[in-house]
Amino acid sequence: MTPIKFEISAQDGEARTGVLSTRRGVIETPVFMPVGTAGTVKGIRFEELEEELDARIILGNTYHLWLRPGIDVIKAAGGLHRFISWERALLTDSGGFQVWSLGALRKISEEGTQFRSHVDGSMRFLSPEISMEIQSALGSDIVMVFDECAPGAASHEDTERSMNLTARWAQRSKIAFDRLQSEGADTGRRDVEDLSGAQALFGIIQGAGHLDLRRISLEQTVNIGFDGYAIGGLSVGEEKSLMFEVIEDIAPRMPKDRPRYLMGVGTPEDLVQAVARGVDMFDCVLPTRNGRTGQAFTSRGKLNIKNAKWINDQRPLDEVCRCSVCRRHSRAYLRHLYIAGEMLASILLTHHNLAFFLDTMRGVRQSIRSGDFPKFRREFIERLGANGE
Ligand SMILES: [Zn+2]
Repeated sequence: MTPIKFEISAQDGEARTGVLSTRRGVIETPVFMPVGTAGTVKGIRFEELEEELDARIILGNTYHLWLRPGIDVIKAAGGLHRFISWERALLTDSGGFQVWSLGALRKISEEGTQFRSHVDGSMRFLSPEISMEIQSALGSDIVMVFDECAPGAASHEDTERSMNLTARWAQRSKIAFDRLQSEGADTGRRDVEDLSGAQALFGIIQGAGHLDLRRISLEQTVNIGFDGYAIGGLSVGEEKSLMFEVIEDIAPRMPKDRPRYLMGVGTPEDLVQAVARGVDMFDCVLPTRNGRTGQAFTSRGKLNIKNAKWINDQRPLDEVCRCSVCRRHSRAYLRHLYIAGEMLASILLTHHNLAFFLDTMRGVRQSIRSGDFPKFRREFIERLGANGE
């Protein structure tokens, strides 16, 4: 019995569509996972994520939830699903990336990472064992190993050192994870037909922009053995062409019968281009974060709602979008809300952006099933050049 099941139903070139069964529901892939950093996907209610957008899985951030409200509060509520009232699948990151992004505020050793909390300035320490303990207390359905990320422009030597540390931390994560599962520390446990009811654990491939190291990291990670595999450490300041070089080389070499997750990427175009190279799962803050700063993603490219040219524009954000925002409101009205500092502007733009990302993935899956993915991809990318016009 395994914690998740993954079945590919159609393939078109390297692109594939399939079904990922978790203890909290079935997820069609390729899938985009909205990011719920602090126990909320910022700017949108859970009802809308479930009912209108039909998001099957969202992310939670270990680092943020650990610092605030703290694991005791979430444990007392019976785990993260119960605390936030979300019955569908949850994936939690390990905190490794967030701690790494603190830059000068952190210190990395063999044992783990010491850092200063951005919430109250206290010194904190995160290690593979502590990250696994937090994630079992959160009870997420997919847990990520604790890793170290090398900067996009890191030298071969620095990347190699970092990658080997990630491999040792992956092994320690696996040992701690297995122990916690056997001790019943997982607050999200539930018995489901055909599945073990336990949490799933994903390994992370590092190696920055060095293909030889990426391949070694892949081998190290697969040798330990995980329920799924992620490509980490991309979209951290490297050239986009290098990012795709890594994905193109590594994704097809990843185990075919396990989900492949590209962490923290990216724009709608990036998602479609990565699917073409064999990726199944994505997460990114772009639709929510950019929604709050007035940027809309549409089938005709990005548009900035602040722009004066929309002042009397009665068209919806995206004329082919069927989301409730596009069915009801004009660019002129949304621009007015944004300029007036009304919070509804952020809410409506976030809603549309998430609808667009999720719809894009629906279109991707449909086109792979019908054998039209190359055409879908070509036309999708062409239309994005229109700047919202
Ligand atoms: Zn819309």
